[in-house]
Amino acid sequence: MKTRILTLIITIITCVSAVTAQDTEATLLLKEQNQEFVPKIFKFEDNVWFAVGYDVSNIAMIEGKTGIILVDAGMSPIRMEQLRLKFREITDKPIKAIIITHGHGDHFGGIDAFLAEGSNPQVWGRASVLGENTGFNLEAKAGKEAQLTVANARGARQAGVFLPDSIHINNGIASRPDKQRTMFTRGKETAEFKPTHFFTEQRKKIEIDGVKFELVAATGETYDNMYVWMPEQKILFCGDSYYKSFPNLYTIRGSQYRDVKSWYQSIDKMRNENAKYLLPGHTRPVEGKEKVKETLTNYYDAIKFVFDKTIEGMNKGMTPDQLVEYVKLPEHLASQPYLVEYYGRVDWAVRSIFYGYLGWFDGNPVNLNKLTPSTEAEKMAKMVGGIANLRTNTVKAFKEKDFQWCAQLCDYLLALNKNDKEIITLKANALMEIAKTMVTATGRNYMNSYAIQLKGKVSK
Ligand SMILES: [Zn+2]
Repeated sequence: MKTRILTLIITIITCVSAVTAQDTEATLLLKEQNQEFVPKIFKFEDNVWFAVGYDVSNIAMIEGKTGIILVDAGMSPIRMEQLRLKFREITDKPIKAIIITHGHGDHFGGIDAFLAEGSNPQVWGRASVLGENTGFNLEAKAGKEAQLTVANARGARQAGVFLPDSIHINNGIASRPDKQRTMFTRGKETAEFKPTHFFTEQRKKIEIDGVKFELVAATGETYDNMYVWMPEQKILFCGDSYYKSFPNLYTIRGSQYRDVKSWYQSIDKMRNENAKYLLPGHTRPVEGKEKVKETLTNYYDAIKFVFDKTIEGMNKGMTPDQLVEYVKLPEHLASQPYLVEYYGRVDWAVRSIFYGYLGWFDGNPVNLNKLTPSTEAEKMAKMVGGIANLRTNTVKAFKEKDFQWCAQLCDYLLALNKNDKEIITLKANALMEIAKTMVTATGRNYMNSYAIQLKGKVSK
């Protein structure tokens, strides 16, 4: 891994002008990922166009006999209007159908730009046979019904929507928002959006305008996830089951449990199609039968390894904290460019699998009656000889660049006085230092956003 990173850094230094002398290895690696989002419309076989970098997600256009079919519809109607005009330079055939790979707003939010053409297309999505609660767009609906609003705030931090451009590199598998923020303009209200056509089978064969498609159930990031298989062209649209990053098996914005076991089983189905082209919901296409097979096999192995090893450790009685030390991706997988933790992280996945099966109790009885944060902080301060000493140690940790420890000590002090301006600022600065060392864009953006919010509190 080390050698690979070094080679990458040298390559980047020579070809990316935005590199600065202070950049950490993590920063350089994340900047390199920006190449995935450079706008480009690829063409595959005779009738498939694939637009990358026109929005936070990718959109495909397939030309049929008398019309066109789209796979996914982006996030922003403004961005999608720009892409629609690009597509219209290729053909003026009317839109017959739009297939939505899964119910996340970044894949359908821009649909209004296409619907405005007035051709009344079929809109396809997947619903589960288990009924409404496992159906399309469950995540947004469940949150809305519970009147949950915090996930939006966490999501905004993860995406870094209000970060200055100087510290926002990208979102791991998508580019940073443009200056007008148009990439984040939602069209359809997420919880309300509904396709016109659903399938509930494991595999649904349909023909639209003379083009054969197979819509295949592929639970993973969501319970309504599908992949779209074009058997004649051997093209596979995998939605967010695969992209160039270790997968986001847990999202730090928070969501229902992402079914990790089903996720790798879906990857297994996908690799058995023997696709010639793998066209993901984010990042660039994978081309060539052998390359697709190898990529999906390593992806499958990585997810399955994390799942199996976590369950193995759980059965040994390990807590989530212990599991994080126990489950490490083997080098031959970790070193693959598409398994770098740009977006998802192995240790977050491990914790999620634990909570997904066992809930919050880690098995250690000490944690059944935990001290409150303020009681623990009082005892900690007393143990180190008083609050002043605790403070000195906290400042010292920052000076010694022990930033995580510094941030943890700040939390003790803030549990004792949440309005301590000096400590709030110190914590914010520690978080921003930690962020610089994180290759995972979601965590990095979250840290920086949180730090800026903390600083805002102080300046008021
Ligand atoms: Zn997505």
